[in-house]
Amino acid sequence: MPATTTTSQPTYQFNPPMFDAVVIGSGIGGLVTATQLAAKGASVLVLESYLIPGGSAGYFERQGYRFDVGASMIFGFGTQGTTNLLTRALNAVNVSLETIPDSVQIDYHLPDNLNLKVHRDYEKFLQELTAHFPQESKGIRKFYDECWKVFNCLNAMELLSLEEPGYLTRVFFQHPFACLGLVKYLPQNAGDIARRYISDQALLKFIDMECYCWSVVPADMTPMINAGMVFSDRHYGGINYPRGGVGQIAQKLVEGLEKAGGKIQYQARVIKIITENGRAVGVQLADGKVYRAKRIVSNATRWDTFEKLLPPEQMPAAEKKWQQRYQKSPSFLSLHLGVAADVLPPGTECHHILLSDWEKMEAAEGTIFVSIPTLLDPDLAPTGFHIIHAFTPSWIKDWQGLSASEYEQQKEEAAGRIIHRLEKIFPGLDAGLDYMEVGTPRSHRRFLGRDDGSYGPIPRHKLLGLLGMPFNRTAIPGLYCVGDSTFPGQGLNAVAFSGFACAHRIAVDLGL
Ligand SMILES: Cc1cc2nc3c(=O)[nH]c(=O)nc-3n(C[C@H](O)[C@H](O)[C@H](O)COP(=O)(O)OP(=O)(O)OC[C@H]3O[C@@H](n4cnc5c(N)ncnc54)[C@H](O)[C@@H]3O)c2cc1C
Repeated sequence: MPATTTTSQPTYQFNPPMFDAVVIGSGIGGLVTATQLAAKGASVLVLESYLIPGGSAGYFERQGYRFDVGASMIFGFGTQGTTNLLTRALNAVNVSLETIPDSVQIDYHLPDNLNLKVHRDYEKFLQELTAHFPQESKGIRKFYDECWKVFNCLNAMELLSLEEPGYLTRVFFQHPFACLGLVKYLPQNAGDIARRYISDQALLKFIDMECYCWSVVPADMTPMINAGMVFSDRHYGGINYPRGGVGQIAQKLVEGLEKAGGKIQYQARVIKIITENGRAVGVQLADGKVYRAKRIVSNATRWDTFEKLLPPEQMPAAEKKWQQRYQKSPSFLSLHLGVAADVLPPGTECHHILLSDWEKMEAAEGTIFVSIPTLLDPDLAPTGFHIIHAFTPSWIKDWQGLSASEYEQQKEEAAGRIIHRLEKIFPGLDAGLDYMEVGTPRSHRRFLGRDDGSYGPIPRHKLLGLLGMPFNRTAIPGLYCVGDSTFPGQGLNAVAFSGFACAHRIAVDLGL
């Protein structure tokens, strides 16, 4: 059954403007789609409900501090290979960004004194891990070397739409072994491969954490394709921080979009995707304006797209099936702190992960993630101060039904608990606080327009690797999705991949 026109009819303007593509949302997925299409000559309009672009990769400024909203451990800024998708996305529209290399991806502070650093230098990282698990030295190397095999396959080919048969044929003839390698890994999860080589339970828990810290599920549920990317690219292209803050990535993409003839409108909240005879043909804004386009791209989550922008009772069967396989991950409780510089002991690294009890790795307020971007770019804070962004999983249900004063009190208490735990690595943190702003799942929902403030989809149960993740086309003709609800999932470089693929598929569909 094709979806029909939404029930209440929009107030159409006379001859609403017509674009090749309208993109709902200016997250990195939406902006990469838009810039790629504009670079190919398409007329593109991006509609963003907030005041600035970037979504979860945005920023905000308070009292001389420039805080990243979310992401700050950035992959995809390498200079070689094909997986450096952020570098490539910027280059495609003739803009660039200065980045600052980070020599350590994560400084782990884990139960049973498992404290170690993931160095940019692969051998140095393996040495440090092996020193904790000498009996597993061979298994450690075999597991991480196998991740390199996945990465080398990906990094050999141009990463475009797997929904485009012409591209698949071309890439297969150009790189047959790499393609066969990827086909082999596509249905596998990292945990299965880790257990093939490793039996020490503490080490397997460490590998769970290595996956959890970006996939928010343990290794058994983390697709090997994603693990191969993350566990190798951190040593290849490395982790690089954009000078001026993560928000610069979106700002630069917008600059490139406009240079290439595309347009973006802020404070433009789409409330409806308009369908005619089952086909997506336009969007309606909260202020009643209507834009029509040959192709509509939603950078909102799939839950927002199919339950809010389209009538939920007409949800296509494929989406219902997807929701049976994937659920919303929790959101985060975020502490954005300004602290006196002497709070940080000498040699402090930029990114930390803290956990005191393995049983609580996935629990609300279990794992704490910490970013201190001012260690790489001091200009983000006033002289003599640093930014600490500490965040931990949190569910929206725990923040609902509260009065304004109860909400404030709950925020204060939660922040107190997190600061108390952070004192373990930053003694004197509480006394050194200069500024604090607490974001809850409600803030993530409100400012990022994400259902329940979720970080994105996670499998409900163990799935066959990445096989269940949808690509960009949807069951509704003319409507595409991009961003972390599509293949290959969360993370800036991953949503950039989704953007390249989405633009490629649309360009072929439009004959560009
Ligand atoms: C706390 C936190 C830490 C993270 N850390 C990292 C990290 O270190 N490294 C990393 O790579 N990734 C990290 N991530 C994940 C990464 O930020 C996301 O996966 C990625 O940014 C999602 O991009 P997206 O394209 O899916 O869109 P989003 O970022 O979700 O942006 C969507 C945009 O669409 C707009 N929008 C939505 N609905 C509408 C509508 N109806 N009308 C108009 N506009 C609309 C929103 O306002 C938003 O701007 C982190 C995320 C969070 C929350």
